[in-house]
Amino acid sequence: MSEVTVIAEITNGKLNPATAELVTAASALGGDVVVVVPCTDASVADAASAYSNVSRVVAAKSSVFANYDASGWAEAIDAVSPAGNLVFLASAQSKDLAARLASKRGISVVQDVVEISGNNLTSPIYSGKAFQTVAISTTAVISVRANVFSPSPSDGDASMSVVDATGNVKSAIKELIGRASERLDVAEANIIISGGRGMGSPDNFKHLEVIADTIGAAVGASRAAVDTWDDIPHSMQVGQTGKTVNPNLYIAVGISGAIQHLAGMRSSKYIVAINKDADAPIFQYADYGIVASWEDALPVLQSTFSEMF
Ligand SMILES: Cc1cc2nc3c(=O)[nH]c(=O)nc-3n(C[C@H](O)[C@H](O)[C@H](O)COP(=O)(O)OP(=O)(O)OC[C@H]3O[C@@H](n4cnc5c(N)ncnc54)[C@H](O)[C@@H]3O)c2cc1C
Repeated sequence: MSEVTVIAEITNGKLNPATAELVTAASALGGDVVVVVPCTDASVADAASAYSNVSRVVAAKSSVFANYDASGWAEAIDAVSPAGNLVFLASAQSKDLAARLASKRGISVVQDVVEISGNNLTSPIYSGKAFQTVAISTTAVISVRANVFSPSPSDGDASMSVVDATGNVKSAIKELIGRASERLDVAEANIIISGGRGMGSPDNFKHLEVIADTIGAAVGASRAAVDTWDDIPHSMQVGQTGKTVNPNLYIAVGISGAIQHLAGMRSSKYIVAINKDADAPIFQYADYGIVASWEDALPVLQSTFSEMF
């Protein structure tokens, strides 16, 4: 039987739980599922062998995986991954890597997949306004959106091998000096609380940060907030020209709900909007809406979350 390879998502040196979702997606493509875990320490791969429906796990060990670099990572992963379909998480980093691998192997890449039916892969296009389904007739590299496929249960016992993936790697990033932010990135978060121009000033984002720290969320922003205030970096921007996110919970505070913002977050599982204007468009897409100023609503939210978490 042919093999389909999941490239495990590594976040801060640990196996990202979304890797279990990739296993489910890979199973839908058919074939034996192999999980390749890029790592500097093979013990990171242990959790992957517990996923059910996995035939084997390859801990691809190399110092190149200490810091992300598309060229070095693609070289190392290519060397240890079997032929056949490759499945990545559709995070910003892994989409970059997926494209590199596809180019390296001379095969197609299909990004942001949200549904797999045999060889038919469905993904959103035009900022989520439409969906396209493409049929793959040969091997391809696929990236899969988080929080779409259910995670594979952890009752398996796949065999694990450790391989040195350094091989022909010609370049590696030895050290990263000054990361953009120490906070959780919106692209990786399961819960996001975002602020818009309605926050009034960048200083007021500290109220969002307190809540984010309480519930383990990332802090995002609308483009108006990013464009208006230098202290709100573009890395926080959600939307058509920012990041596309797919969290379980998205809390939009002082954000009107322009189509370009919705393009980046409307596939969130639950959307909560806080806006003082009852006619703000965001309420048409929110599962729960609070018509109030953030000055009134956030303290109540914070004290409730403090009791819960
Ligand atoms: C090509 C293009 C690409 C774009 N890409 C993006 C993108 O990636 N992401 C993005 O976000 N936008 C994007 N935009 C911009 C987008 O059109 C909107 O201008 C932007 O999303 C508006 O941001 P906002 O909702 O924060 O601000 P506003 O539209 O000014 O809305 C502020 C909201 O805050 C509310 N408010 C005010 N005070 C309070 C208070 N005290 N408490 C509670 N609520 C309050 C108001 O009622 C209002 O609804 C793009 C635009 C273009 C043309």
